[in-house]
Amino acid sequence: MDAPSFCCSCAAPLDLSDRHPVCTACGRTHYRDPKVGVGVVVLDPDRRLLLVRRGVGPGKGLWALPAGFVDADEDPRAAAAREALEETGLVVEVGAVVDVYPGVPGARGGASFFVAFEAEVVGGVLQAADDALDARFFGPDDLPELAFPSTEDAAARVRTVTEGQL
Ligand SMILES: [Zn+2]
Repeated sequence: MDAPSFCCSCAAPLDLSDRHPVCTACGRTHYRDPKVGVGVVVLDPDRRLLLVRRGVGPGKGLWALPAGFVDADEDPRAAAAREALEETGLVVEVGAVVDVYPGVPGARGGASFFVAFEAEVVGGVLQAADDALDARFFGPDDLPELAFPSTEDAAARVRTVTEGQL
C-alpha cells in the first residue's frame, strides 16, 4: 500500500521513521488502516467453482474468486454479495467464512487481507460485468490460470473436501 508523505490535517511533512508516521508540525499520528477484500466461493450443482477473469490489477487477466473491497461501514457479507452480483450477475446468499488470507506481498492496489465466504446462488443470470472480463464455472480438471493463493486454496478445497463442506 502506498504511504502518504504529508499530513492530511496541516500538509506538513510526516516523519516516516516510525511504524506509524507522525506529523512533524502538528504531531498527528497517521494510522494506516488495512484494506479489506472479500470474495465468494460459489459452486454449481456439479461442484464446479465460479471464477471471474480480472479486468483490473493485481492479477489482471487471470482468474479469481468474485471479489472486491469492503466499503466503510459496509457489512462484509453484504460487500461479498454486492461484488458477486456486480461481477457475475448472480444473486448469492453468503454463508460461513472459508478462510482469511494475508495480502499478496507487492501486489499494488491489492487488499491488506482477504476473507473468502461460502455462498449459494439464489437468483440472477450469469454474465460478466463491472471489472470482470469473463465469469464462468470451472471443474477441478478444467481450471484456468489462477490469480492468487486464495484462489488456489479455494480450488484445492473444492477438489479435496467432501460435499457440504469447504
Ligand atoms: Zn499535521
